[in-house]
Amino acid sequence: MNKNIVIAGPRGRMGSEAVNMVLNEPSFNLVSCIDHKTELNPILAENNIPVYQNPEECFYANDVDVLIDLTVAKASFNHIIMALQNKISCVVGTTGFTNEQLEEIQQVAKENETGIIIAPNFAVGAILMMHFSKIASKYLEDVEIIEKHHDQKVDAPSGTAVKTAEMIKSVRKSKQQGHPDEIEVLSGARGATDDGIHIHSIRLPGLVAHQEVIFGGEGQTLTIKHDSMNRKSFMDGIKLSVNHVVEIDGLIYGLENVLDLD
Ligand code: NAP
Repeated sequence: MNKNIVIAGPRGRMGSEAVNMVLNEPSFNLVSCIDHKTELNPILAENNIPVYQNPEECFYANDVDVLIDLTVAKASFNHIIMALQNKISCVVGTTGFTNEQLEEIQQVAKENETGIIIAPNFAVGAILMMHFSKIASKYLEDVEIIEKHHDQKVDAPSGTAVKTAEMIKSVRKSKQQGHPDEIEVLSGARGATDDGIHIHSIRLPGLVAHQEVIFGGEGQTLTIKHDSMNRKSFMDGIKLSVNHVVEIDGLIYGLENVLDLD
């Protein structure tokens, strides 16, 4: 069945990629967009896609199945609550929600028997990298994470690195790695540590989103590496989630809970 889609944030780096993806997917119809400014992504003008500044007006004027939100947490939270109250399913890539906001989203989604998928990382390859790292850490308990991102990223380490460490910790015995008397000649040389797992963050122009998880054992190392070369890498996960979200009630958090990984 074809799905009528609204995209919030169509001028953004992720949002403009989502506009291209939806316009090129035969079973998706881009019915309108939500933006806080009136400047247009030119592709929307070419395709006569209306843009609303008021989300309520957008949901009232159109028959919408799924909202894809790629904006900022504050705006996104309002879009989501309004969409769920109108029984519109949501696929959200926006990051930075508080636990309280996630709890409220879950409650509103349940009350309205409507589905929502929020995923901090929609790249299927990145989800597999985390999953494989969790498996590897059962057998190789010494591990360090190197994450690399573009220099406009403000938070470090990345959410994906933190999540990877959490997944590893869920199966690996707690361990302080390296020499017990290790000295940092320059402060920060060994990166951040989470339960003994060292996490190193690199920020450079030219990078998009990259991560290596390196395991060490006697006489061997194992490297699990993922690279997002551009924002197209996130679109398969969004597409998959749009098709899945209309089948569920309530909140699914994380693309790993949408993929069949067992
Ligand atoms: P971006 O290029 O800054 O795009 C954000 C867009 O949202 C901009 O067009 C911005 O407009 C718009 N916006 C801001 N406030 C708004 C409001 N009140 N109402 C409607 N639109 C509003 O950022 P991005 O790189 O595309 O990232 C977007 C979000 O996705 C971020 O939260 C980012 O962390 C997240 N992200 C997620 C994934 C994933 O896989 N889940 C991957 C990459 C990024 P202005 O420019 O006018 O402010």
